[in-house]
Amino acid sequence: MKLYIIANRLPVKVQQDAEGNFSFERSEGGLATGLSSLNSEMDTHWVGWPGIFVEDPTQREAITRDLEKLNFHPVFLTEAQIQNYYEGYSNNTIWPLCHYFYSYIVYDADYWAAYKEVNELFCTEVTARIKPGDIAWVHDYQLMLLPRMIREKVQDLSIGYFHHIPFPSYELFRVLPERAELLQGLLGADLIAFHTHGYMRHFISTIERVMGLGVMLDRFLHGNRFVYVDVLPMGINYDLYNQAILKPAVQQKARAFRNNYGEHKLILSVDRLDYSKGILHRLKGFARFLEQHPGYHEKVSLVMVVVPSRDSVEMYAKLKRHIDELIGSINGRYSTINWTPVFYFYHSLPFEELVALYHIADVALVSPLRDGMNLVAKEYVAAKRNSPGVLILSEMAGASTELSAAIIINPNDINQISDSLQKAIEMPVEEQLANLHLMQSLISRHTVHRWAYNFMDKLQHIRQINIENIKKRRVGQTAERLRRC
Ligand code: UDP
Repeated sequence: MKLYIIANRLPVKVQQDAEGNFSFERSEGGLATGLSSLNSEMDTHWVGWPGIFVEDPTQREAITRDLEKLNFHPVFLTEAQIQNYYEGYSNNTIWPLCHYFYSYIVYDADYWAAYKEVNELFCTEVTARIKPGDIAWVHDYQLMLLPRMIREKVQDLSIGYFHHIPFPSYELFRVLPERAELLQGLLGADLIAFHTHGYMRHFISTIERVMGLGVMLDRFLHGNRFVYVDVLPMGINYDLYNQAILKPAVQQKARAFRNNYGEHKLILSVDRLDYSKGILHRLKGFARFLEQHPGYHEKVSLVMVVVPSRDSVEMYAKLKRHIDELIGSINGRYSTINWTPVFYFYHSLPFEELVALYHIADVALVSPLRDGMNLVAKEYVAAKRNSPGVLILSEMAGASTELSAAIIINPNDINQISDSLQKAIEMPVEEQLANLHLMQSLISRHTVHRWAYNFMDKLQHIRQINIENIKKRRVGQTAERLRRC
């Protein structure tokens, strides 16, 4: 039995030498790490876009051979396909829809055509290799049509789908002209899972109303199969973050940061550049805090890490300009010879620096307007180890259902952000440690490895149920025929 993990991007780092030759190395993102633990149990293969544009068939063949050594199977896409399927339908239509940014949704027939076309390309690649009895695990909103496409081509497969972003309320999802096709696509899976109960409930009610299917608690009958829905919040590689500060390289970074920032209390903020992350609201909340608490001037700094993302797209470039301006105006207004209120990094940080910052930060301010999960919040809690610290977390992040010992805020409320900063800074150390301990004990059990294991376990269980169900129906139908004779 083989497991095919199918995601928009293959987990590879690509390098190109002076002659234009590519070389590939496995990259260990959260998803790849979690799923790597399944390698020992199953022959695991990945299908996805390698992240480069290659038109020449000979070069494509050479790359495919290289990648296949890693059990990776590339789906090559053109620049136009990435523009319309990925930037277009995935990121300009489904992303704002699922994050409740109604007015940002772009409706474009070319986007939809490309989305279908690319899902078909993925299907061709998967079905060229997958065999009856194998498992396909499809990831995320870029590939919502794929479960059904695969099922129509190959019988007797276990197909799972995990939705990594929020699933919105029916009232929002219904605005999408292609709502039924997307849901039909997902119904090709045996298991459709989400980070939170809220997302799952929205999905169930959308299925009931758009598809007219009746749901029995956590499953509905679709043809001769049960399709199950479940809540499986994704975790992190806990030990990696929890033990990071034991490494000399991380300790050295932590000392260097502390020396640079002096004795100020440090508030940390880490996100990709995205409107869903609430970065402007957060800066306004910090500015309100400084305005309301002059006693904290020269005593508190915000370290803001923004990882560049899609900043060639005008909307993102505009967001970046607003962030730059707001930081400029806060620093312009409040900086002194001894103090910079906001330290700003517009680039990603190496792992050692990121975890060193997690470890020394007195407060992590994680305030997305919407976020499927938010791993930064969990990483901060894990990296604290035995040191004090306070997590301020948006109630709109999926992580808030598990991390309820954080200070939970509404990220739209600037005054609440300011008040929560005061509360965090003034929280007694014992209370900080007690809250962290509660959250650590939960996330150290619900790791990304357990998440992957639970998903696969559930999928295999459903397989048995469906096999028996089909057998019973056959027996029932035969008995009925005999009775009639
Ligand atoms: N991250 C990183 N380098 C950085 C900043 C962040 O690798 O400089 C990682 C971080 O460790 C986390 C991920 O980016 O694992 C962000 O995940 P999250 O779920 O918070 O947000 P997403 O970007 O997936 O919406």
